[in-house]
Amino acid sequence: KMRTPIIAANWKMHKTIAETEEFISQFLPLVRGAKKVEILIAPTYTSLAAAAKMLQGTNVKLGAQNMFWEDKGAYTGEISGPMLVDIGCSHVIIGHSERRQYFGETEETVNKRIAAAKKAGLEVIFCVGEVIEQREAGQTNNVLATQLSGGLKGHDLNGITIAYEPVWAIGTGKTATPDMANETQTFIRNWMKDKYGADAEAVTIQYGGSVKPDNIKELMTQPEIDGALVGGASLQADSFSKLVLYNG
Ligand code: 13P
Repeated sequence: KMRTPIIAANWKMHKTIAETEEFISQFLPLVRGAKKVEILIAPTYTSLAAAAKMLQGTNVKLGAQNMFWEDKGAYTGEISGPMLVDIGCSHVIIGHSERRQYFGETEETVNKRIAAAKKAGLEVIFCVGEVIEQREAGQTNNVLATQLSGGLKGHDLNGITIAYEPVWAIGTGKTATPDMANETQTFIRNWMKDKYGADAEAVTIQYGGSVKPDNIKELMTQPEIDGALVGGASLQADSFSKLVLYNG
């Protein structure tokens, strides 16, 4: 594949600092020899500093799970892009379905966050995906087009990775079949080609939703699946390292 695969851990609201350190010390030796794959861990904000220290100079990159769109100011409880760069992040996840569902994330706020992340020099993992009612109603492509155009309006594709996460497959053990995921990701690729032309070919599109050691290979062999964004199976060094080494 021309695009370097990205296997990313989204730890969501899991792990203390001590648990983060324990994971990383177990994980690094397991993936030291990983080839042709970008590896990323996105812990909670409170574990970023400890993780940054341990990941410096290794083949594992650091990401955050969200950020605010202003650089600084009277925004109690928020964290900015420059702050994430300062602590050692190269990536940030934007628009995860859990943020859309529980924290009022909209196309407009996703768009502002993407703008601010790009301005800060962060690589963006931009999450899109339909809920089960939308899939069953045949609305998947419309939903994705709305999310893509809302999030990307006014932006180029530099520094953008798309994570396609069908919401009904997150944490449920129900994976989209590799064919179904590939078909949907082909729609995403074609949507981007339509709007951006040849630049769309270089964009990595990850799949997320119940990715496990026993299904990753089948998913990753699909032409339009360039990586995985992993929740549950990324929490143990043993299973996450198996995902990273899916082809070896
Ligand atoms: P699971 O791997 O636990 O299904 O979570 C997927 C996800 O939401 C990653 O961002």
